[in-house]
Amino acid sequence: MAMTSLARRRATSLFNSSILRGSAFSRSFASGSDDNDVVVIGGGPGGYVAAIKAAQLGLKTTCIEKRGALGGTCLNVGCIPSKALLHSSHMYHEAVHAFPNHGVKFSQLEVDLPAMMAQKDKAVSGLTRGIEGLFKKNKVNYVKGYGKFAAPNEISVETLEGGNTVIKGKNIIIATGSDVKSLPGVTIDEKKIVSSTGALALSEIPKKLVVIGAGYIGLEMGSVWGRLGSEVTVVEFASDIVPTMDGEVRKQFQRMLEKQKMKFMLKTKVVGVDTSGSAVKLTLEPAAGGEQTTLEADVVLVSAGRTPFTAGLGLDAIGVETDKLGRIPVDHQFMTNVKGVYAIGDVIPGPMLAHKAEEDGVACVEFIAGKEGHVDYDLVPGVVYTHPEVASVGKTEEQVKAAGVAYRVGKFPFMANSRAKAIDDAEGLVKILAEKETDKILGVHIMAPNAGELIHEAVLAMQYGASSEDIARTCHAHPTMSEAVKEAAMATYDKPIHM
Ligand code: FAD
Repeated sequence: MAMTSLARRRATSLFNSSILRGSAFSRSFASGSDDNDVVVIGGGPGGYVAAIKAAQLGLKTTCIEKRGALGGTCLNVGCIPSKALLHSSHMYHEAVHAFPNHGVKFSQLEVDLPAMMAQKDKAVSGLTRGIEGLFKKNKVNYVKGYGKFAAPNEISVETLEGGNTVIKGKNIIIATGSDVKSLPGVTIDEKKIVSSTGALALSEIPKKLVVIGAGYIGLEMGSVWGRLGSEVTVVEFASDIVPTMDGEVRKQFQRMLEKQKMKFMLKTKVVGVDTSGSAVKLTLEPAAGGEQTTLEADVVLVSAGRTPFTAGLGLDAIGVETDKLGRIPVDHQFMTNVKGVYAIGDVIPGPMLAHKAEEDGVACVEFIAGKEGHVDYDLVPGVVYTHPEVASVGKTEEQVKAAGVAYRVGKFPFMANSRAKAIDDAEGLVKILAEKETDKILGVHIMAPNAGELIHEAVLAMQYGASSEDIARTCHAHPTMSEAVKEAAMATYDKPIHM
């Protein structure tokens, strides 16, 4: 496959191992010609974006979705409702803790949880309807129902209205996403023991919330309920929270969350759950074994990761292979081992993130349309939407060290950033790692109130193979939080001005 100019330029980089995945497995072959050029199973960020892009490329496209609403996990029970509640709960928290410092006082303040949930639901329904509108605009045929392979180019759909229909396609894209991973011996009832879906719809603020799993979803949901008044304890088997995060940033992040009264029990496993009383009683044990303790909670959130969702899809019937984690391996064009059957998003290996699923979707249909698709998996940003947010792209310091690359580090704290001081929200830092010899940026890590927005300057810079000096010599508006990125870049190859 020909490379884009961007991919070609990066081909010499030390860290470009996964720009496009290679494949080494054999294929069986589909047969038959069909009504649609493309049929997408699943209308999440991977599936609906793939469907729209396919239609924009002139391909006759059908998308099958069983939920009755488009947008998948992300819009319905993931990214969007969680960000809505994070924002609402942050406003309340700010009103209680920060507004008085800004001279804004209330005589009375209270949480109206049903109204908060209604605003979240309104955001979700508006956005999911918006995608239906985009389907109409782009002439994507939308079938509401549960799809199952009858043949490699034929999907039998049990429709939500009742009855069955068969949809044929020259190319089928599996975009069925992921589901909550359960823990052995812990039954999720979505009342006392909830998944992230239940945690987004609690009818009362729990007095005590225990979160099992210190990944980004657990910390975000813990933050929501902590801000609204719950006592939050996070139980984590590993020795660290968010293990993919840069170690130094992670330590500061944990301290920030502890300042917000979130408690952590690391290197701890849950070995028993008793729901017979009014409270849930968890039995805990050190990860390495040892003396057991108990912990009580009104609600327990199980947030131990997500697992690819392929139930009822009939993969066995057409011979699509899965790996031992249930993911569908694909080649560099997103094709499975069965010709004409593709897979994208959470259901394939790679980070389980909505924006990554979208990139997969676009690249996949570009390949189907005979064009060139491109996803740079080394430059998928990751964001934890707590307050402050933590965003990163590229390598952590630990990864750079392990690769044996000589590097420089530049850091700049928001305490020295004028905008952050002006708004009295100055916790956090920017950390940039650059190759010592070439100054090429290898990784950027930001902890700041709006880190999820700030990170894109770094993503773009890295996409173009920029050096830290390139960022440092770029004029940044004043006063902005972005100036901290510029100063950290200055600190990487030279010295910052304001510190
Ligand atoms: P999904 O969004 O899971 O969509 C798959 C769709 O396929 C579903 O709608 C499902 O109903 C449908 N489907 C499955 N099987 C069939 C079938 N047989 N027939 C028909 N339809 C079928 N990611 C981020 O990038 N940022 C965030 O802030 C973020 N926050 C999150 C917060 C929470 C609480 C959760 C749970 C997830 C969050 N994620 C976030 C992850 C993100 O939601 C997923 O990575 C993303 O939704 C994956 O997209 P997808 O299209 O691969 O799958």
